Amino acid sequence: MTTDSDSSTHFGTRVVHSGKIADTAFNSVMPPLYPSSTFAFDRLGENKGFDYTRSGNPTRKALEDCLANLEGGVDAVCTGTGMSAVTGILHLLQPGDHVIAGHDIYGGTYRLMHDVFAKLGINFSFVEMVNPENVRKTLTPATRMVWIETPSNPMLKLADIAAITAIAKTRDAITVVDNTFLSPVFQQPLSLGVDIVMHSTTKYINGHSDVVGGVIISRTAELAERIRYMTNALGLTESPWDAWLVLRGVRTLPHRMRAHATGAQQLAEYLSTHPQVVAVHYPGLPSHPQYALAQQQMTGYGGVVTFEVDTDKAGLDRLFGALKLYSLAESLGGVESLIESPWYMSHMSMSETARTCAGIHTGTIRVSVGIEDPADLIEDLNNGLRAMLASFATGQQ
Ligand SMILES: *Cc1c(COP(=O)(O)O)cnc(C)c1O
Repeated sequence: MTTDSDSSTHFGTRVVHSGKIADTAFNSVMPPLYPSSTFAFDRLGENKGFDYTRSGNPTRKALEDCLANLEGGVDAVCTGTGMSAVTGILHLLQPGDHVIAGHDIYGGTYRLMHDVFAKLGINFSFVEMVNPENVRKTLTPATRMVWIETPSNPMLKLADIAAITAIAKTRDAITVVDNTFLSPVFQQPLSLGVDIVMHSTTKYINGHSDVVGGVIISRTAELAERIRYMTNALGLTESPWDAWLVLRGVRTLPHRMRAHATGAQQLAEYLSTHPQVVAVHYPGLPSHPQYALAQQQMTGYGGVVTFEVDTDKAGLDRLFGALKLYSLAESLGGVESLIESPWYMSHMSMSETARTCAGIHTGTIRVSVGIEDPADLIEDLNNGLRAMLASFATGQQ
């Protein structure tokens, strides 16, 4: 039904040719969308590989084949949102199990672990993962999973995937990497020994801010089977319509990622010299404390830039209000640039203490750099920073 390209071809070719559907009826070049909820049996016990769309669907399978191929996994399951991918993975655990996660992971993942799964009897330790030894120190005999997000959100700190995976393996704990921020174009965790990679495909994989989705990619057949069972049992799988859109989006992934990273690098370098900017966090800057690890573990630095300004809430409002090219919005990874305040927006689900502990301040600003011309993005942000300053100078705050 679905066909796959030879995995020895280059990434840029596989992203276009893997996960195709051979349409013997009409020879359609692009994969057909099969919204059918159910598929007929030829006779008892015999069908064409699909029976019911929650369990499997040809359009979703095309996307799953493509994403498994790009990450180098044996199987992928596409889910309705990134959070449902997290939900499916956490259901591999049982009451009494212990999980170690980064303390500055995605706010929604933190909330799901800290508020929801903790009530089901699973114990979580949130640690600073810049130093892998913090993971070793936190291991207990009950540790069953280590959850890594790198670069972290929004501070773009890095976790050494290979080192942490080696530590987790001393206790046979499953390692998971949330690879949403870099995509397989810039980071391939399974090749570093990780067991499961997940994405919010809402972000770079789809890339056009017009669908929410997730994916879970497994390194081994044993894990893949458990994930398939769990996502079907829990009803987490993605609708064929959404899968079809994500499959269309992913075909241009390497080209978009290159444009995001080029723009982000230029914006980060510009902000580093700006008098109103107190600090810039971007792994592509030689001033990033883990620049060496970035060069070793990643093949590109991504499209998210975080920086700090010294202003109050009204100052932030003036800055955001003056911008013409950036929407004031959460999320990231689309072709258009977005700007937001982690303190007041994306990370509100964390307590003030947890936000402070993760290094987030009221003046922290996160930019998802789109694929617009970097010169225009720089000029627009410069105008915003001037608007923020101007009102201070005239005492209008
Ligand atoms: C957005 C995001 C998620 C959650 O995905 P949804 O599609 O919003 O459910 C998880 N992890 C990271 C890093 C994200 O950016």
